[in-house]
Amino acid sequence: MDNKILVVEDEEKIARFIELELKHEGYEVDKVYDGRSGLDMALSGNYSLILLDVMLPQLNGVEVLRRIRKESDIPIILVTARDAVMDKVSGLDAGADDYITKPFAIEELLARIRVALKRKSTDRSEGEKLTWKNVTMDIDRHEVLVDGNSVELTNREFELLKMLLQNKNIVLAREKIMDQVCGYDYMGETNVVDVYVRYLRTKIDDKYGIKMITTVRGVGYVIKEEN
Ligand code: CA
Repeated sequence: MDNKILVVEDEEKIARFIELELKHEGYEVDKVYDGRSGLDMALSGNYSLILLDVMLPQLNGVEVLRRIRKESDIPIILVTARDAVMDKVSGLDAGADDYITKPFAIEELLARIRVALKRKSTDRSEGEKLTWKNVTMDIDRHEVLVDGNSVELTNREFELLKMLLQNKNIVLAREKIMDQVCGYDYMGETNVVDVYVRYLRTKIDDKYGIKMITTVRGVGYVIKEEN
């Protein structure tokens, strides 16, 4: 079950192509062609990752994602159409770990899958707690508490917060965050970092009336330890 991938893609030729490539890489693959079946399979099967197309019949990918996220933090890579910026933003908002834009090179897809799977296993193996004021992060349990209240974060948001807390008082450039949190170069799409920071601020800073993440204009972000 560590290498079983669910492909939700209504274009059967593309689904078949992805299936062959993934099997060639040693993954087990199930594929379904509509959102409703995708949701059912995702929730019932033991998958280690889901590759989820956005434009799907019956239930669109973002809605499928939202419903999966209510029950599971399984890694999900969203497949979006070129220039569908809203799909990317609402997909990340709904808890996608990553997205890939059609048409994509199979090597890029494989790289993203490896990163998503690796991040998941790294999360499990680290026994570490990070703190800032009333914010506590338990890496082992993949849990963030503010004043003892649990905060639901996506994997990416969690990784970003972890990186900032591990580098307190050090200003992290967007490119560096992109590189570490995403595991590869996004070719200038560093505004995605701003999107993740905004989500973190909404869930933590705004909600609890604190100012944890500081923006350093033109550079990036930092969490400052105040003495
Ligand atoms: Ca489609």
